[in-house]
Amino acid sequence: MLAVLRLGHRVGRDVRITTHICLAARAMGADKVFLSGEKDESIIKSIGGVVKRWGGKFEVEYRKDWRSVMKSWKGKTVHLTMYGEPLNDRIGVLRKEKDLLVIVGAEKVPSEVYKNADFNVSVSGQPHSEVAALAVFLDRFFEGKELEKRFPKAKLRIVPQAHGKQIDANV
Ligand code: SAM
Repeated sequence: MLAVLRLGHRVGRDVRITTHICLAARAMGADKVFLSGEKDESIIKSIGGVVKRWGGKFEVEYRKDWRSVMKSWKGKTVHLTMYGEPLNDRIGVLRKEKDLLVIVGAEKVPSEVYKNADFNVSVSGQPHSEVAALAVFLDRFFEGKELEKRFPKAKLRIVPQAHGKQIDANV
């Protein structure tokens, strides 16, 4: 099980970026996102619609208390932060974990997260975005295999084209 914990969601301000975290997590092999911060049914509903149409088992669960998500997680926790140890130095060890909780922040991440995470890992030492950090992390973790992942029970499927667009709606 690979789950993502999204910290500090703010209704209105973060809708687009939190939705993109969920979409990227689902597309790139994560099983679940724990959404913490302000409760936002619109995201849970819209990702639920994506799962219905595009298949797979992915889910988004709202958890007001991120501390309890971290505490009750059975495997290791890795916090993505530009202040952490380089991804290239830690990915080999992390890949051996069966259950991994990947934590991404918003504006200000509480110091407790840095202290209590098993790993603090940077995706370059430069500031960028939680979506970019998560996508690169997942790609390195799954070594590119996530791009071939199958999504059972899909109602829609892209038929890859060199040019143009084709969707198979009878899968
Ligand atoms: N000053 C913040 C911090 O504590 O890292 C930056 C906030 S940034 C807008 C939001 C989130 O993007 C961060 O909490 C982190 O999860 C992720 N992020 C941004 N740059 C990153 C990097 N270079 N490596 C890993 N994660 C990064």
